[in-house]
Amino acid sequence: MKKYNFSAGPSILPEEVFSKASEAVKNYNNSGLSILEYSHRSSEIVEILEEARSLVLDLMQLNSNQYSALFLQGGASAQFFMVPYNLLDADKTCAIVDTGKWSANAIKEAANFGSVKVVASSKDNTYRNIPKIPVVCKDFAYLHITTNNTIYGTQMDFIPQAETLMIADMSSDIFSRKWDYSQYDLIYAGAQKNLGPAGATLVVVKNEILGKVQRKIPTLLDYQVHIDKKSSFNTPPVFAVYVCGLTLKWLKDLGIDTIEAQNNNKAELLYKEIDRNPFFEAYAEIGSRSKMNVNFTMLDNSLEDSFITHCAKSGVVNIKGHRSVGGFRASLYNAMQVEGVQKLVECMQSFKA
Ligand code: PMP
Repeated sequence: MKKYNFSAGPSILPEEVFSKASEAVKNYNNSGLSILEYSHRSSEIVEILEEARSLVLDLMQLNSNQYSALFLQGGASAQFFMVPYNLLDADKTCAIVDTGKWSANAIKEAANFGSVKVVASSKDNTYRNIPKIPVVCKDFAYLHITTNNTIYGTQMDFIPQAETLMIADMSSDIFSRKWDYSQYDLIYAGAQKNLGPAGATLVVVKNEILGKVQRKIPTLLDYQVHIDKKSSFNTPPVFAVYVCGLTLKWLKDLGIDTIEAQNNNKAELLYKEIDRNPFFEAYAEIGSRSKMNVNFTMLDNSLEDSFITHCAKSGVVNIKGHRSVGGFRASLYNAMQVEGVQKLVECMQSFKA
């Protein structure tokens, strides 16, 4: 039976990416070698890394003289401390918008390096909305935001204004829509949602913001080292980057406009059913609803397990919500086809208590 995987990450990738990646594991480019056994210094792998890095900037429409794209390790979680390590002096304050668990982690780690001011929060509303964000002035070292909150299913549909640097965790909505990436000074994203397998973390950084902090930075945590070494200071996660490159090529061929239209259509289809169907209720407030992670609950939560079983019979899997929120979460990343969302909607319509 065909499976429709709504997992929040690691998650679905385009079918052709899976098939090209599996072929490369067996026999990369008819070389008789697996991609897994190539040296990261070989011309083949250097080319793969360079292509992936340049596709990132190309898709973001960023100037390669101003910005660098890096594939690092440690997940998006490592960026919670790498960002302040590189950008926050001990006597300075950074501004962070608190939209849930991942921004809370960013706050906790930044506080190890300097001061943190939470400039907006939706905690009192159990993170059901994106709060209003004040213009952050230049006294702050930077403003940190999370553009899409994977756990709660909320998403920013605007770019905040800041007179200082703007840093964004885009782990769960990167490349999902046309967006002015040039408004940001540093963007990061764990690959395992819209990009590729777990193991690679994309960081896009504006070169001129680096080299300004007073402290010494450990070599491996210094963005400048990774820029100078073309993202290969040490052994990079070669296979993960290769798969990211395949997804990026797929994206470029399809076009971000098309992806955005598909994502809008999928989200609209599902929210419409949630709002219509008396069994279900959306978690996020209108105006803050994510097009990537759609969270919903059942009015009678004793029926949740039977709804999950009902969905599984149609191949609709991994819709269970995050343990801290409960209910359901359907992740509609770029590779999820509209057919999968239609299946889920059919399951919602045919469900009987
Ligand atoms: N930020 C966001 C928005 C996330 O969704 C996640 C993971 N789901 C993280 C950060 C942490 O990512 P990682 O597991 O790659 O450290």
